[in-house]
Order: sequence, then C-alpha cells, then structure tokens
Amino acid sequence: MANFRPARLPWALEPEMPSIISHPAVPLALALGLGRQVVSERLLLAGVAASVVPDLDVVAFRLGIPYADDLGHRGFTHSLLFAAFVALAAACAFRALRTTFTRAFWFVLVATASHGILDSFTNGGLGVAFFWPWSGERYFAPIRVIEVSPLSIQRFISEGGARVLLSELIWVWAPCALLAALLLTVRKTRALGD
Ligand SMILES: [Zn+2]
Repeated sequence: MANFRPARLPWALEPEMPSIISHPAVPLALALGLGRQVVSERLLLAGVAASVVPDLDVVAFRLGIPYADDLGHRGFTHSLLFAAFVALAAACAFRALRTTFTRAFWFVLVATASHGILDSFTNGGLGVAFFWPWSGERYFAPIRVIEVSPLSIQRFISEGGARVLLSELIWVWAPCALLAALLLTVRKTRALGD
C-alpha cells in the first residue's frame, strides 16, 4: 500500500478528538431537556451510540489510510451526509426505538452531526470533512477551545488527561447542561400553562 508508513504508525494509532466520553453529552442533554415523552430510552441509547459512531473511522489508521484522506480519521464518517444516513437508518427502525419516524430521524441526526461539530472545536489534529463527498476540505470552528484528547489511555494519563477532562467539562458538558436546563424550564413552564 503506497501510503503505508510503519514508522508513523504508533503515533497514527492514537488520533486526537474530544474524549469518547464527552460526545454523548449532546444526546443526553437533549433527552433530559425534552423528556421521555419525546425521547424514549431506546432512542436515547441510539443517540448515544450515534454520537460516538463517527470515530469508528480510526480503523483507517490500522488500514494505513492517511489522516487527511476522505476515508481517514475525521473524513467521511464525520460528514453531514453520513449523519443523515445514520439518522435515516434510525428513522427506519422507529418502531424498535419506540418512537416516531420524524423524532428518530431528527434526534439521531443531531446526535451524529454534533460529533463532527465538537471535533471541529478541538485544538489539535486535522479539521472535519463536513461536506464530503462534495468537498474533501477539512474544517475547524472559528474558535478551537476544546483541549484535544489522545485516544490511547496511556497517552491520556501521561499527557494531562485531567486538563482534557476539565476542558471538556467547561466547553462540552457545561453548555450541554445549560441546554438541558433551558429545555427543561420551557417544558415545565408549558406544562404549568396547560
Ligand atoms: Zn471524531
């Protein structure tokens, strides 16, 4: 394979991202805010899975596919089109998810698309190929505030994992908690008005 570079492999096997535990913050916050009437437990589980599924692309490193390739890390699985496909698959399974087609589609779409959006706020790695297959260009958010996290536990511990977690607490979990609180307040106020 032309692009296979064994000397780079140990590094390449440890791509950077917001740590995998923080991506589910988005579906969790939405589910908490919207309530069980809107987001069933099964739909929430699907959303949590969908929020981490784009990072399955790290397998690309093992296959010798370079980071910057469309098939590489933060490539096609981080695109909006991929998110739409995952959402459509979930929507087709709406009965199993104990919800409606529309709810399954939108909830899983937001959960999957939020993954790439969060990645684009990190201060390391390459940008996100949001517009694959129309464009292979990699994008970052205008501000890159989230401390990037190494994937391997070993590097996570040795390279300031606490700093990464603190950064995610501030830039991912806190805004998500705020979103949940806001939705919850709107829901409760509406319920009182009825
Ligand atoms: Zn990612």
